[in-house]
Amino acid sequence: MKMRLSILVLLFCVTNVFAQTTERQFIRTDAKLIALAHVRVIDGTGAAAKDDQTIIISDGKIQSIEPAATAKIPANTQTLDLNGYTVLPGLVGMHNHMFFPMGGSPPMYSNMGISFPRLALGVTTIRTTGSVAPYSDLEIKKLIDAGRMIGPKMHITAPYLEGAGSFTPVMHTLTGPEDARKLVNYWADLGATSFKAYMNITRAELRAVVEEAHKRGLKVTGHLCSIGYKEAAEIGIDNLEHGLFADSEFVSNKEPDKCPQGVSNSLRQLDLNGPAAQETIRTLIAKNVAITSTLPVFEAGGALLAQSGVGASSALLNQRVLNVMSTDARVRYLQARARVPPQADFIALFRKGMEFERAFVKAGGLLIAGLDPTGNGGIVAGFGDLREVELLVEAGFTPLEAISIASLNGAKFLGEDARIGSIAPGKQADLMVVKGNPAATISDIENVEIVFKDGVGYDSEKLIQSVQGLVGIR
Ligand SMILES: [Zn+2]
Repeated sequence: MKMRLSILVLLFCVTNVFAQTTERQFIRTDAKLIALAHVRVIDGTGAAAKDDQTIIISDGKIQSIEPAATAKIPANTQTLDLNGYTVLPGLVGMHNHMFFPMGGSPPMYSNMGISFPRLALGVTTIRTTGSVAPYSDLEIKKLIDAGRMIGPKMHITAPYLEGAGSFTPVMHTLTGPEDARKLVNYWADLGATSFKAYMNITRAELRAVVEEAHKRGLKVTGHLCSIGYKEAAEIGIDNLEHGLFADSEFVSNKEPDKCPQGVSNSLRQLDLNGPAAQETIRTLIAKNVAITSTLPVFEAGGALLAQSGVGASSALLNQRVLNVMSTDARVRYLQARARVPPQADFIALFRKGMEFERAFVKAGGLLIAGLDPTGNGGIVAGFGDLREVELLVEAGFTPLEAISIASLNGAKFLGEDARIGSIAPGKQADLMVVKGNPAATISDIENVEIVFKDGVGYDSEKLIQSVQGLVGIR
């Protein structure tokens, strides 16, 4: 008995050591003192980029940012000469599910607990924004926090709070407000820090969710349909997903608590400068409701344009993205791409969604960003987050504004902006190092080479190589 126990202990130790040594190969540097010398700095606040700076990282935190010419580099500092590179804050992904569509009818979804954390690229913090495998999400977060898995800092959203009529069986169906209250408290007790209302939730259920979550200081977001944006804002929701695309309130014959047909059509006809749309924007801002932009999932679902901009073939058929997919996932995505809607319709609605996001920000609203790795299966962790920043630029934001939306704004919403979201002395060293200059050419943001989380620098390409062909499997 005693011998068996020691064999077990030995086995456990061996697997533990193995885990640590395999993870080590992905670490470019974890020195106590690191200097990123001669870099361009985009600090995430929207301020202009600064050329030829030196950032000193000490014990996982940003100690200083100074012009390289005058910066004093302490002894025993590991210096990386990064001439030609830009340092940006690690992105804060606000619609970053851990799962991926697996096809089937009704559609199924599975957790990508191995591939997605490694593919986070420049994303150092995520909110999971609805879970289909909450126990796994919670445990993966613990493993990452303990340094036993590589991945971003995770803010876990509870399983979807969905009413009757879901299109997928991966969600529980609420039986009413009491059920909603019970679930909010159950998942909050286990470590969920936010909640997501889904398409068929009733107003009474949403009210119960908001009340219970707010009692505990937690936030509620929604991908809604049965409830319009203004109604949800009045109920007290904190955040709405998918920009304008999920607002059903402009469907003329919409019934209360019911998800209507024809949402896209009603949005196509909506005048963003008209009184109805303007009142919605005003209400959202007055009620402090943030909007999450998830442009990549809509782009992937739409038509292909030959050249640059929205629906560029370089984005929709990005070889690096296709390479991390399993054969099955790749085939399903390419088949779905062959069935896209007519181009003119799609582009007009997509452009309107972009226009709405700019109008919301211009009016003073907090826009945050995510990728949403669902839809037709073309959107993959990390790659999708970088594409979101490019699409915000396509929407008319400057590169510096787009980067700030995808970093500092998310941190603000999470209440974490004193620690993360921008590059400033005293903040955690959560950074991405990219080749080139995204302030001038936003697509340079795809050239991620090193990602720092709490001052540990990971080799982005090695992490991508380690999960080739795995998205769609694990
Ligand atoms: Zn989602």
